Amino acid sequence: MKTVLKTNITVKDICDGFVYNELEGKGLFGLSGKLTIQPEYQRNYIYASDGGKREMAVIESILKGYPIGLIYFNQVSENNLEVLDGQQRITSVGRFVTDKFAIVDENGLQQNFSGMAKDRKAKILETKLLIYECEGTESQIKEWFKTINIAGVPLVSQELLNAIYSGPFVTLGKEEFSNSQNANIQKWSAYIRGSANRQAFFERALDWVSKGNIDDYMSIHRNDKNINELKKYFNSVIDWISSVFTNVESEMCGLEWGRLYEEYHKKAYNPTKVSAEVQKLYNDPYVKNRKGIFEFILGGSADTKLLEVRIFDEATKKSVYKVQTAQAEKKKVSNCSHCVTGHEANKIKIWKLDEMEADHVSAWSKGGKTSVKNCEMLCKTHNRAKGNR
Ligand SMILES: [Zn+2]
Repeated sequence: MKTVLKTNITVKDICDGFVYNELEGKGLFGLSGKLTIQPEYQRNYIYASDGGKREMAVIESILKGYPIGLIYFNQVSENNLEVLDGQQRITSVGRFVTDKFAIVDENGLQQNFSGMAKDRKAKILETKLLIYECEGTESQIKEWFKTINIAGVPLVSQELLNAIYSGPFVTLGKEEFSNSQNANIQKWSAYIRGSANRQAFFERALDWVSKGNIDDYMSIHRNDKNINELKKYFNSVIDWISSVFTNVESEMCGLEWGRLYEEYHKKAYNPTKVSAEVQKLYNDPYVKNRKGIFEFILGGSADTKLLEVRIFDEATKKSVYKVQTAQAEKKKVSNCSHCVTGHEANKIKIWKLDEMEADHVSAWSKGGKTSVKNCEMLCKTHNRAKGNR
């Protein structure tokens, strides 16, 4: 790969013919149309989020004469360059000189570009950027792109995969899943954590349809001219969740819905009963892990481990142990009631406190309380053999 360092390109040159697409949230062109700022494999513009702190910082750096770092262009053809790295910074500069946002000056006043003093305007426009122009094969460039992005604001892995497998499939996928204008995003956000422009929904859709093998799936479908399978599978999962669980609870967000769909979507559920059971468990003070409620119900309300039912506290365990052990010593039998009825040498064994575990006499799942009256200490072997009832 060939690289040339350019030190004479100014902000003014870069911003000549700058176009920003509000709808897509992308900086598009610069350098009098010669430069494509946002190639397919670049992520959307994110410096305007967080109240625009980052884009303001770019302008403040330039005004103070601080370097804004290396920028990489890729020579696509004789007259065409695209931004390989530095798209966010270039878009910040372009947006500022076209009055898309203002900075706050030393007196705390909002200051946009066109209202600035002449010398400050000139300072920005005449700032020279450090730009590497590179020329190489697609795979060389992509490999390199992967490496340089380890520095700076890291790309999340889905953004990297979008870069590596760029093509019609990624373009269509991003149109559907990474488009913050898509009206479905609100619905999806109930179940999936993250934001559209950082690829959270695209990643989840790919993860579900590929059963976790996103890389392979993207490689196979890279040149597909449609995303039908991906979309269909994704919608099946979403529709299934909302038909089984009719009320949206905040703990539903971010669960492994793809796995749960695969495991349970062939079973029939009565949404009215499910809804009542969700409410019952939400109101149960012994349920520690509310995220587990959904899988617990899907699995037939059997696996109480998923709920992390509140266990007995240390004081309760100690007092129960004391009483139980005193009685056992009197009778010269084991202090584990299960060992007593066994046929091993353990029949008369007195276990230490830390060799025992607390058990619900009447199971929690059958309404048993987590109180002293309902607590029995068992040796670890017997408690675990009993399992979660
Ligand atoms: Zn025992």
